[in-house]
Amino acid sequence: MTDEAILDAVAAQARWMEALLADLVRAPTVLGAEDAGQAVMARAFADCGLEPVDVPLRADALRGAEGASPFSWDVVGKRNVVATWPADAEAEGARSLILNGHVDVVPPAAEHLWTRPPYGAVREGDWLYGRGAGDMKAGLAAMAGAVRALRGLGLPLGAPVQLQSVVEEECTGHGALQCLLDGHRADACVITEPHPDHLTVAQVGVLWFHVDVDGVPAHAARADRLGFNAIEAAGAVLEALRGLEAELNADPPPPYDAFAHPINLNPGIVAGGDWTSTVAASCTLSCRLACFPGESPDALAERVEATVARAAAEDPRLAGGRARVRYDGFRCEGCAVAEDEPLVRALGDAYERRHGERPALVATTATTDARHFVRAGIPAVCFGPRAERIHGVDERVSLSSMVETAQVLALFVRDWSGAIRPGSEGPARGKEEKDHHVVHGREPAGRG
Ligand SMILES: [Zn+2]
Repeated sequence: MTDEAILDAVAAQARWMEALLADLVRAPTVLGAEDAGQAVMARAFADCGLEPVDVPLRADALRGAEGASPFSWDVVGKRNVVATWPADAEAEGARSLILNGHVDVVPPAAEHLWTRPPYGAVREGDWLYGRGAGDMKAGLAAMAGAVRALRGLGLPLGAPVQLQSVVEEECTGHGALQCLLDGHRADACVITEPHPDHLTVAQVGVLWFHVDVDGVPAHAARADRLGFNAIEAAGAVLEALRGLEAELNADPPPPYDAFAHPINLNPGIVAGGDWTSTVAASCTLSCRLACFPGESPDALAERVEATVARAAAEDPRLAGGRARVRYDGFRCEGCAVAEDEPLVRALGDAYERRHGERPALVATTATTDARHFVRAGIPAVCFGPRAERIHGVDERVSLSSMVETAQVLALFVRDWSGAIRPGSEGPARGKEEKDHHVVHGREPAGRG
């Protein structure tokens, strides 16, 4: 099966992928509402001729699992959807593969700032707009389109390829973790996050923490003499946390020494007070902070607690536990995959045949589900369509890059998992004999 035949077959799926992407964007799959998107993905996998299977999230299993994050919300009824394209016959050199994407999206941030409706899937030229269009529903459409094209061509597989549409990537990664706990494994994994022109081989760890601050309520008319404002106290805590952030960025290890500011503290939500004319009695500051691969998120949590304790010690009104740190959501380590991993070389080869040059290998200052696979001994990288303004307003994705992503994935699936047929140079064996280029990344660029 020639490269050309594969590229053409994938290009012929462009409209199918675009329709799938639009259906996905119209499903507002924020935390707790993922299932509308999973229904779309189950239909899409079935339309690839595969049998979609639900992988429900199980709170008990997740709470005890290595790599799990704390969570306070109910996961009953949440499911991943997976579909396995089985091998036709086991072939020497063929390796199994997981293609993974997350269906959940972050909220629209501020709907009034959008110039197109966040769940409208408006198309303008090569761009499709919408929350999650880039992060990462176009990636889901690309991986399904690649498999649909290859199945249409009758590609014989020597090792299984599994498609995974998972939930909760944006808060815990427990969708991907549940798939692993349920035994869905492979020799490698590609996550089709919006990382174009490069393969992402390293990522930071992320900690979510919430600082609950107690104030003393009073009438606002006497706020100069009475009460203690929890919102203002939370501001002082945030200032102290900025000091910790500066310390964390002081001496980044490679490859993060190429970044000016790899570790970002983000106060993402502040919630406090209950009346405009009452001195605020309580405030919660919800933050995201990162750590480098090899560092423990538990150690980072200790530094956060020490920082909050120091800030509290500077104000007697915060004495006695009136500023407390709580954890809910991400508590995850960073990870990295070696640049000479067969996965990295083979996916880079496929990319080069489509684009005429090798992809850069980069590190990201965000986290992805890749860490769960890497922890389980499964090399995982991110590669996918070109998106702009993810987590921002007017998020959009390039439709041509979605098709190109599917083309690279299809070439890679043939090479990695295809069966060796008698009388032809089998893709898997050909790969082993090939004299690989040594790959060097250009300077990493932050994503996500
Ligand atoms: Zn994402």
